[in-house]
Amino acid sequence: MNRSEQMARIRGRNTRPEIRLRQQLWRRGLRYRVNSRLAFGRPDIAIKRKKAAIFIDGCFWHGCPDHYFAPKSGAAFWAEKLRTNVERDRRQLEKAQADGWRVIRVWEHDIRADPSAAAEAVMEALEELDKSGDHEDWRVTAVSAGPEGREVRHLLELRTGRERTSSKRPTHAPAPSSI
Ligand SMILES: [Zn+2]
Repeated sequence: MNRSEQMARIRGRNTRPEIRLRQQLWRRGLRYRVNSRLAFGRPDIAIKRKKAAIFIDGCFWHGCPDHYFAPKSGAAFWAEKLRTNVERDRRQLEKAQADGWRVIRVWEHDIRADPSAAAEAVMEALEELDKSGDHEDWRVTAVSAGPEGREVRHLLELRTGRERTSSKRPTHAPAPSSI
């Protein structure tokens, strides 16, 4: 992945994966609103009739357990940003559920890998109304230094608030230069 791809990944709305997923869903006959303002937040895709909200989560901003990397510079700033984002995701999920909405979260990496498969997964989740409540959704909330140059990653489960840690070798990637 080169630098401009890295930048594209961490940019905000109307990024390519979002458009690609929407196209795939539209092709499957799903009709939706984009960026609707709802009481609990602003999902990327909302299906009011089904009270279903779809959020597309960027791997960097939302603490993807597979792809989050701790930027080399500005560590404290990025750590704070990550924690804030993940906490907001969790609060938003709780509020949405309290309002009777179902939340489906899609990782950006799944859309990049196979937009069609990602859309199929969304369609399945929409059909089985309770399905999306079952699976675990772990997020990286912080990274600290561990023994032998390894990183200790602190993870939080969005639905239950459970926490755990894991350790891995650091992933070297450039620090994002823009928000
Ligand atoms: Zn990812």
